[in-house]
Amino acid sequence: MRISHLNCATMRPPLAPRMVAHVLLLERPDGLTLVDTGFGTADLADKHRLGRPFLAAVRPALDPGETALAQVRALGHDPAAVTDIVLTHLDLDHAGGIGDFPHARVHVHATGTEAAQHPSLAEKQRYLPAQWAHGPRWETHVEGGDDWFGFASVTALADDVVIVPLPGHTRGHSGVAVRKDDGRWLLHAGDAFFHGDQVREPASRPPALSAFQRVMAVDNKARVRNLERLQEPGPGER
Ligand SMILES: [Zn+2]
Repeated sequence: MRISHLNCATMRPPLAPRMVAHVLLLERPDGLTLVDTGFGTADLADKHRLGRPFLAAVRPALDPGETALAQVRALGHDPAAVTDIVLTHLDLDHAGGIGDFPHARVHVHATGTEAAQHPSLAEKQRYLPAQWAHGPRWETHVEGGDDWFGFASVTALADDVVIVPLPGHTRGHSGVAVRKDDGRWLLHAGDAFFHGDQVREPASRPPALSAFQRVMAVDNKARVRNLERLQEPGPGER
């Protein structure tokens, strides 16, 4: 399986490091799969739908060349070949691109779709229902898969693409683990942490991001618990 790492939304929050919406494009035997999508063309066409507070907080670049649609095409693929999208969560900087692939199945942890479709007052501002107004082919998944390195897991597509619940940032927030051809796993951790240094040894983080992550978490205790588990050395790293 060929794996491409894409940035589908550059964000430049004031006083904090630049952030990206990290998206994976998986070339699987039966089609293309995206893990997360960043912003979509409809978000760029009408940036005001993202909301003034969000625009002010993260100052997105809104570069048309960064959409998943543009990058799938630039890599020489037909966008219709994207058969599946797996989302870590439905925050508006992750789910915006699903409208550009209206025929794809959209895989999400069941709690994640429940949170986005029935948000509490505090959760409302992070979701943008217009991003899924086209009626995606939702495939919601509940826990009950195999153990994945000590984490519960949920089969998403097959045994090489699994959803790994890492709640805290949002209800139902999950990582997506992809098994590479060499048998090793790549974990797309979504927003379980905002900076790679948080899971390096010794772990550290830019202070401005620390507060931002705490504020953005619906369950900060769960977020910290999962982060601590992600900081533990993996097999063969001890
Ligand atoms: Zn998020």
